[in-house]
Amino acid sequence: MTGPRVPEDVRAPFEIRGGRALMLGHVHPDADVLGTLLALGLALESREWTVVYGGPHPAPAILDFLPGVERYRVLRQVEGAFDVAVLTDCPNPDRTQGLLDQARASARRVVNIDHHPDNRRYGHVNWIDPTASATGELVYELLEALDLAISPAVATNLFTAIHTDTGSFRYSNVTPDTFRIAASLVAAGADPAFVSTALYERREREALRWLAEVLARVQVSEDGRVAWVALPAGLVPESFVEAEDLVNYPRSIDSVRVACLLREREGQVKVSLRGKGEVDVNRIAARFGGGGHRNAAGCTVAGPLEGVTKEVLASVAEALDGSAERGA
Ligand code: 5GP
Ligand code: MN
Repeated sequence: MTGPRVPEDVRAPFEIRGGRALMLGHVHPDADVLGTLLALGLALESREWTVVYGGPHPAPAILDFLPGVERYRVLRQVEGAFDVAVLTDCPNPDRTQGLLDQARASARRVVNIDHHPDNRRYGHVNWIDPTASATGELVYELLEALDLAISPAVATNLFTAIHTDTGSFRYSNVTPDTFRIAASLVAAGADPAFVSTALYERREREALRWLAEVLARVQVSEDGRVAWVALPAGLVPESFVEAEDLVNYPRSIDSVRVACLLREREGQVKVSLRGKGEVDVNRIAARFGGGGHRNAAGCTVAGPLEGVTKEVLASVAEALDGSAERGA
């Protein structure tokens, strides 16, 4: 494997037998967070570790097939003492809604494993590698370095993490290592057809009608470079939006350089931004207090849907004009 090497200080906390670990997720956990927390936790359990899995929000229904996900709990507070608290795919400590601060008091070490370039390095140990397509790649390497067995359950979790963060191995973050690791995971028992079916072929009947509602609202800027869709609260069910990567529809238009999905919920607007290389959408999200990657980022903005949409689109236009001036 020519991939990222696991630093010694990242391995060390896991080299004991029978430790206690807290696997701590962030708000609205996705497959990269859940898959990596479950994979590492289940692998440690094979070495007599006691593991607690949880975070501020429940796992979404679409990920109910991840092996072990029924163990992932909504935590109001952190109880008990731990040798390590592990956070994966979590760039910003604020995204745990205060649980990390509690974990600091009850865990001897906080281990932060992530691939977001803007990770705040809030752990005692920080392993941040933005060249990894998913945190799933890093956790795979950690398990290998620790000589922990990759069971079919562990493989399925890591394969799903990588599958979703790469848009089914389609995005620019995919490297030869991504495929090498995915191949090893399939050899270890992850079933690509099972994962694809579980993610993309379990729609409710009504979902196609909801999709039609969403697609009817896609708008494109005059110059064709920006496409967006703004979803008022209650238009379609939240579980549907969580299960679908809806921002990919505006992004799929040929001329589009930046796509946005804006969804109103609880008096706030959750914004998803996608780019195609020219513009760093992470920088746009950062202006609104969010973050992410160059081609995929997000933020949550207070305010009414219409106003937030205007503000975000103005920021996108400015970023696009900047990239044109630089000749990008
Ligand atoms: P999505 O648009 O699918 O929610 O997220 C895309 C990327 O942006 C992910 O890497 C995710 O971690 C990041 N992201 C989404 N929303 C937020 C946010 O509110 N804050 C930060 N820091 N990152 C976000
Ligand atoms: Mn990720």
